[in-house]
Formats: sequence, structure tokens, C-alpha cells
Amino acid sequence: MTQSSIHPAKISFVLPNSIAKEVGFEVGDSLVAINGFPLRDLIDYQFLCADEYLELDVVDNKGQTHYVEIKKDYDDDLGLEFEKALFDGLIQCNNHCPFCFIDQQPPGKRDSLYLKDDDYRLSFLYGSYLTLTNLSKKEWKRIERMRLSPLYVSVHSTEADVRIRLLKNHRAGQIIEQLKWFQKRQLQIHAQVVVCPGINDSLHLEKTLTDLALFHQGDVPTIISTAVVPVGLTRFRPLKDELIPVTKTKAKEVIKQVQSLQKEFYFKFNSNFAWLADEWFLIGQEELPPESHYEDYPQSDNGVGSISKFIREFETTAKQLLPAKINKSVTLTWVVGNAVKKVFQPLVKKLNKVDGLTIKLEALKSHYWGQETTVTGLLTGEDLLSQLQGKDLGDGILLPSIMLKHNDIYFLDDMTVEELAKQLNVKIFPVTGIEELIQICLHISTLPTMLNK
Ligand code: SF4
Repeated sequence: MTQSSIHPAKISFVLPNSIAKEVGFEVGDSLVAINGFPLRDLIDYQFLCADEYLELDVVDNKGQTHYVEIKKDYDDDLGLEFEKALFDGLIQCNNHCPFCFIDQQPPGKRDSLYLKDDDYRLSFLYGSYLTLTNLSKKEWKRIERMRLSPLYVSVHSTEADVRIRLLKNHRAGQIIEQLKWFQKRQLQIHAQVVVCPGINDSLHLEKTLTDLALFHQGDVPTIISTAVVPVGLTRFRPLKDELIPVTKTKAKEVIKQVQSLQKEFYFKFNSNFAWLADEWFLIGQEELPPESHYEDYPQSDNGVGSISKFIREFETTAKQLLPAKINKSVTLTWVVGNAVKKVFQPLVKKLNKVDGLTIKLEALKSHYWGQETTVTGLLTGEDLLSQLQGKDLGDGILLPSIMLKHNDIYFLDDMTVEELAKQLNVKIFPVTGIEELIQICLHISTLPTMLNK
């Protein structure tokens, strides 16, 4: 091991009753190597840990070096969690997309908000999108050797000149060759196209989607699915003249265009293959497609079918968990983006059928980003504060945790949940998923009485 290849992986949690606990690992210790191999990231860790016999190089939290031998079954997990997934640091982006959300933030916030990642490891581990423009030969080889698939790729356009214009990077024009590289090795991709009106829409969009569909063939299709997403613009964007916001008319046009292509794709592949993000229907004020349209929801984390999935899960969970009445009356305020106001009203109606439970829906827009129509995930602490101050919020706020980043502590504008709770003088309950939302509605009186959970 050379000094430059060593990236100690700092342990943040040791699972109780785990092998690591038994061996004596503690929070703050660092794992340096497994079976003589240094670790670059969580992928190396998972890969190397699959062995039945492990020799671990460890540095404890006092700086002392240890050598630990472990015998285990092939699929036994050691029970360690780490501070970071990438022990050797983030691979940063080398593009200059005018629609980059990072550049559309106000200045003066915490440094981590301005970090532009374009790292294939985060794509493999967590489904974040990458552009493939910054990969060295070594990284391409690693993707092949470790079969890191599927990856999530921002294609935007299959036409070299259009993609170069969008990413402002001459390396962006190699996308078709790169897709062929994946095809040859039977590695798979989920693709996305962020539509910027006047740049990659209309005929360009048609070409991109039909080109991508050519990679959806055979037993192991290279491109598994494609998400078509509207560009999101904020009032802080630096190059105001370069991008045109998506209007209601544009949204309707794109919906019509993609729905017509979906018919062709369905005929060929028995799959829609390319899906429109929910936001198109919200901006275009059109009905969302039925649940069956989304097949197995391949891109729900990218806002494609996520509303329909949420409603389906809500209905199933509500049927199982909602009682006819609760003993102690409760009033809660459920905060969402105004884009979903209409589709969430029936859910609120259902919750309010429980005798003793009152849910008030507050559908807010983002003054912070300067958006008339706002999806829930973009609401900031400032938005909530300015629009909820002085209102009767009942016994607390149900806060979809999608608004929170960095360990569920901060809103996108850097305000913490605790700060907001203090300023509004109300309890805030961050909720992840429907079961948690319903459980909080039913058991709020038994939850700890503090300003925020
Ligand atoms: S690739 Fe992503 S992070 Fe990089 S500039 Fe474009 S939008 Fe921003």
C-alpha cells in the first residue's frame, strides 16, 4: 500500500450484536485495509467484505494500529457504518450546465451546498445522476471490473452539439460511444433528459428518445428506462437569458409529444420505456396517468410516478392503520408544495374521517426560489416561516422529510428544523413515508414533548 492509496474509513456506528461489536470496534476507529487492499469507498468495503476470511488493518480513535482477523460466513455483514461513503473524496463535476441547481442558489450558504458531485460511485450506491464526462480510464476500468450497474446517466441529448451546449463541456459529445461501451459489456443505465425549452425540446427531444430506445433491446437492455424532466429555474440563476422556463403551454406540448412516443415504444417493447416526470402534469394542469402506466416505477425517486406511488401506498396503509376514532383530539398541519395541493386533498379528507383527528393541509409556494408552482422537496425553512407565521398550526407540523438535507437537519436554505420550530413556537414532526405520517397522527400525545423530534 502506498501512502497516497490509503484513505482510512472512519466508523460512525457499530451495530449492536454484530461481528464488529464482538471484535471490539468503536465509533471513531478507522478501517484502513481489508486483506491488504486499501479502501476507496463503500463499494470496495462491500466487495472485499464478501470474503469468509478477513484480515483488517485498523487505526483506533487514539491513533494506535491494530490487525484483526475475522472468520465469518460469506454473506455475514460486519455491522459497521461509516461517516462517508467515499473515503477518498468526491469526484467533482467538470461541466457548466446553465440549469445547474447548485449555481441557482444564493451565495453565502454552507460550503457543502455548493459542491457539485458527478461521481459514478454515488450513482451506483444511491441512484444519483452522472454525466460520464469526467471519468478517467482507471474509473471506466473499475466500472467494468466491478460491474457497477445500473448507473443513472443524465443524457439530456444524444446529439453531440446539443449536449455540448447544455453541459458546456466538449467531452459531453461522446455520449453515443459511451452508451455503446455499456452495451458491449452488458452494463445497464437508467437515463434522464432534462428538457430546456428552445435547446433540447421538440425535434431534438424526439431524436434523443428514439435514439435511447435503440439501446432498449435484447435480453439485457442497456437503457432500462428514461425519465423526461422539466428544467427547474430559480430567481438566482446566473445566466437569465439562456434558459426559458417551462410554461403551461410548453408542458402540454411535451406531454402530448412524449405520450405519442410512448405508444410506439409500448408497441415495440411492451413497455412505455420513457416516462414524464409528475411535474409536467402539475405545470400543464393535466390529470396524472393511472398507476399502471408506471409499470414497476423505475424512476419514482426522480419524481416520475412518485405521486401516484404515494397515493397507492397511502390508500393501502390507511386501510390497515386508520381507526374509526382516536381517544384524544389532535389537530396537525401537513405542509406540502402547492403543486400537489389538488392531488393531496382526498388523502386529507380520508385522514379527517377519523373521529378526533383534524389535518389541515398547507400547500405553500416558494418565495425563496421565486417559483409560483413549487414541489414539496423545494420548500425552504424561510418559505415555511413566512407563510405559516401567525397561523393556528394546531398540535404540530407534519413535515415531509424530503425538504430536509444533510441528516435531516437542514432545509435547502440552511435553516435548521429546530430554528424553525422555535420561531413558529410549534412542534415539528419530520415524516418519512406514509406509515410514519399516520403513526404520528395517531400517537402524537405519546411522542416526546420537544419542539422538534
Ligand atoms: S452536471 Fe450536474 S452538477 Fe454538474 S454542472 Fe451540470 S447540473 Fe450541475
